[in-house]
Amino acid sequence: MLAMWEQRWHPLREEWVIVAAHRQSRPWSGAEIASRPPAPPAFDPTCYLCPGNARVSGAVNPAYVETFVFDNDHPCVGPAAPRELTPPAGIYRNQPATGVARVVCYSPRHDVTLAELTVDGVDTLLQTWQEQMRELQSHADVSFVLIFENKGEVTGVSNPHPHCQIYATNFTFKYIETELIAGRRHRDATGRVLFQDVVAAERQDGRRIIAEHGSAIAFVPYFARYAYETYVAPLRSVGTIAALDDGERRDLATALRDVAIRFDNLWKMPFPYVMALHQAPLRASKTDVEGFHFHIEFHPPLRRPHLLKYLAGPEIGGGNFLSDTSPEEKAAELIAAAGPHYRSSPA
Ligand SMILES: [Zn+2]
Ligand SMILES: [Zn+2]
Repeated sequence: MLAMWEQRWHPLREEWVIVAAHRQSRPWSGAEIASRPPAPPAFDPTCYLCPGNARVSGAVNPAYVETFVFDNDHPCVGPAAPRELTPPAGIYRNQPATGVARVVCYSPRHDVTLAELTVDGVDTLLQTWQEQMRELQSHADVSFVLIFENKGEVTGVSNPHPHCQIYATNFTFKYIETELIAGRRHRDATGRVLFQDVVAAERQDGRRIIAEHGSAIAFVPYFARYAYETYVAPLRSVGTIAALDDGERRDLATALRDVAIRFDNLWKMPFPYVMALHQAPLRASKTDVEGFHFHIEFHPPLRRPHLLKYLAGPEIGGGNFLSDTSPEEKAAELIAAAGPHYRSSPA
């Protein structure tokens, strides 16, 4: 392995990433997570997401056949949050935790992952996200929508039923706010969209591009903070997923599924990740979002099978990431892990 010891600039977050892949041979002192869980059943009578089951609120899930969306029974933001707040002392500020929190089930099947849906199944999910974006536009309490999936027990999710969450909030989440500012600055300085320049640089190098499907691309960015960190994006600059046409949405679905299959194939186990859609705020002005480009980010917490990447001094204490792996090497592993999915039966 080539020694990799340098700092790389993260243009979207405007911060340095320390890449110190030469330390890989040092004695490991991280957490070892439990080995692979047993395969779940197709239907689990105790699962609050399976069709026909009752949830904690008493509501009963319908006998849904594709995706299913419901308001989170334990919302972190919601219409019932108190609107009359006591002002805090001095310079401190508060505001009501209003908004909308929802859950989206990907499939009635309890035992599949995003990687095991068909392209049609993933496309239906993306269509559901588009519909949610359009519907949430009408909520006065909502100015921003974060769609994300926590997958795997290491991300705190013990229920394997494939689902994601929607946090529709009255503020813009910090990473996206940072990307908006960086994009605006780049636009002012160069007249170009920052994310387009990132894609151009990835093409120029070529080693970290995982897959291209028509109008969609997937790559491990040069500035990856996590091992196997992967971005999936349409080639056209749009603010949110709602702006994609049917063809672009299907290409994105194909690329998203392709990446999820490679993740699972890597170690022949359901691969944990945090996946987030980075979208422009709703009702943002044109100039606000001109430099922005909708994309999906995968942040995998494992660096090796069963070995968790701890966030510690540099990341939590200082705010910059220390990466022990070379993005080029991790991309090569994903490129070699192409489908079909390891659990699929041969055609
Ligand atoms: Zn279930
Ligand atoms: Zn982003």
